[in-house]
Amino acid sequence: MMTETQFLQIQNMLSTIKEKSAFYRQKFDGVDLAAVKSKEDFEKLPFSTKGDLRDAYPLGLQAAPDEEIVRIHSSSGTTGVPVIIPYTRQDVADWAEIFKRCYETAGITNLDRIQVTPGYGLWTAGIGFQTGAELLGSMVIPMGPGNTDKQLKMMEDMKSTVLCATSSYALLLAEEITRRGIRDHLHLKKGVIGSERWGEKMRRRIAGELGVQLYDIYGLTEIYGPGIAMSCDYECGMHYWDDYIYCEIIDPKTCEVLPEGTIGELVITTLRKQGAPLIRYRTHDLTRILPGECACGSPYPRIDTLIGRTDDMIKVKGVNIFPGQIDELLKEVKGVSSEYQVMIDHLGGRDIMTLFFETDAGCDRSQLETDVKMHFKTKIGISIAAKAVAIGELPRSEKKSTRIFDNRY
Ligand code: ZN
Repeated sequence: MMTETQFLQIQNMLSTIKEKSAFYRQKFDGVDLAAVKSKEDFEKLPFSTKGDLRDAYPLGLQAAPDEEIVRIHSSSGTTGVPVIIPYTRQDVADWAEIFKRCYETAGITNLDRIQVTPGYGLWTAGIGFQTGAELLGSMVIPMGPGNTDKQLKMMEDMKSTVLCATSSYALLLAEEITRRGIRDHLHLKKGVIGSERWGEKMRRRIAGELGVQLYDIYGLTEIYGPGIAMSCDYECGMHYWDDYIYCEIIDPKTCEVLPEGTIGELVITTLRKQGAPLIRYRTHDLTRILPGECACGSPYPRIDTLIGRTDDMIKVKGVNIFPGQIDELLKEVKGVSSEYQVMIDHLGGRDIMTLFFETDAGCDRSQLETDVKMHFKTKIGISIAAKAVAIGELPRSEKKSTRIFDNRY
């Protein structure tokens, strides 16, 4: 749904965008933006893609004069040219404001002590967690990633009550806390977990081992950074700030706009950004807009927990598989733990998929292998090889975990 206010914000942005930005002058060449009079007209505008943003490297996206730009951030492009996003003072203030709202949605207050483990620097993570917390008035412990010994020492000595981390790093810390038996010395109450899609089972393990309530935070460097959506106590998707962004869900193949409740690719338009406004930006994240109101009473609409990335989609034996489906499937098999790894090979003219998974102590592994294999066949429709291993045997990562290894190409 597009509200009247959102439409006016968009119309207002469109009225000056060609003047302010060379990027959009080129992108909308021949498009009469003054003729956009309805949501339907807006939906005819071309999408922006990460490729477009890369082509604008280094500062082609800049839509405000030099004297108004106070900072840049850059997305960690895994391949080739990064994307540079310029921020005005107002953009930086807006980002802190919505990040503060995220903390408040999780019931975090100015009495909390927030340990920030995401990285600082060109990418947006650490500094966003910090400025939002400072605006709220909480005490920040700006650790950045790594150095587990020091993390745990500061967590204990500073009496951190909130841990901000990626899911894989939160898991690593949780396991280390359990191994050292120091949970009783800590004051952690909440975890704010960002930047990756993660399964329910992993969530329960981290929450269980840390003894905290976990909240999902969502965002991407191209659009402020983390902080544009946040889960609440009810753990039913994430509230997004519809006064700062407009969300659409599209079919990633046909690009048609899908109705509320249907899963597809999230497309975001910024409503207030000055340094680098984005219009219909394709995130490649798979989710849906949840219909109805949340039990928490928040007036903000929700997107569902991310299911995966459109580009994570893998095709094995002719079937489309999303990593989120594997998480869900493993969750249903008793005795199977949250960590897994998938290897896909092409041997003797056919695809072979091997799923390695960790098991709880004392389980019958060969029975679990049979169970997982059968479950996969029933749920996803293809035959795989299943290999059970002990807890801790699969690699942990302090960065985004890579779980699927496609060795076919
Ligand atoms: Zn809620």
